[in-house]
Amino acid sequence: MMASNIEGCAIVTGASRGIGAQTALTLAKIGLPIVVNYNSSEQAAHAVAEEIINIGGTAITYKCDITNGTQVDNMTAEAVAKFGKIYALVNNAGISQIKLFTDITENEWQRMTDVTLGGAFHCCKSVLPHMTHEKCGRIVNISSVWGVYGASCEVHYSTVKAGLIGMTKALAKELAPSGITVNAVAPGCIMTDMLKNECDSYTLSQLANDTPIGRLGTPTDVANAVAFLVDKKSDFITGQILGVDGGFC
Ligand code: NAP
Repeated sequence: MMASNIEGCAIVTGASRGIGAQTALTLAKIGLPIVVNYNSSEQAAHAVAEEIINIGGTAITYKCDITNGTQVDNMTAEAVAKFGKIYALVNNAGISQIKLFTDITENEWQRMTDVTLGGAFHCCKSVLPHMTHEKCGRIVNISSVWGVYGASCEVHYSTVKAGLIGMTKALAKELAPSGITVNAVAPGCIMTDMLKNECDSYTLSQLANDTPIGRLGTPTDVANAVAFLVDKKSDFITGQILGVDGGFC
């Protein structure tokens, strides 16, 4: 466990599983107290917090559906009550769906928008008064290579992930004078429940073959990139989209 010169905690949304869980663990290792947010996977979220505490870190779990602004504000209030300040927000929680564009229902389109863009909107709005007060903060949005290049049969997913990139660039400009950086990570194919639920083993091996580095990514690959952007030393880096895709795109 590294001693941190950072004051305040990190809120990681969707930290019960996959990329979010590993990001929570990695940020805890650099000394940040962590709010492990989850929506439904309570046991898994508790296991992540326990793992952090077992390695000497600090963590609490917080159940909150990020599509609900009131729940998000309550999570922020809990983070401030427990840890005093919020240093970092990682907008990681997300959902995916493989479907022809013509088969996507209005409800499915709306849900995709609500979770990815609505969730990031609520979380940023909620933490920003605290970060601007401190004139310090880090926001990292988890986008996707599909938000950069587009994916067939994932038009709604690609659309919201591209939206997150626009939000990252615009918010970075608005918040730079307040000492807050806003960056995004655009992962390629990362071995998590999300990818496993979408692809059979043949497709997974095809995706690994299509990745110039020759393997699928891991949650650790993404978490390390987030930790780099969260680090105090990265305070001149803002508005950037960092690809973590093994050269996929
Ligand atoms: P995952 O394993 O499916 O985990 C998704 C996480 O999001 C879970 O912790 C889930 O919480 C949480 N979540 C979903 N809806 C939520 C809501 N309304 N409120 C709060 N939390 C919610 O996904 P992953 O692969 O780790 O992906 C994490 C992020 O990386 C996503 O934004 C995804 O789009 C992005 N990404 C993934 C890949 C990939 O190949 N895996 C590639 C590019 C980008 P509960 O389990 O508690 O419901």
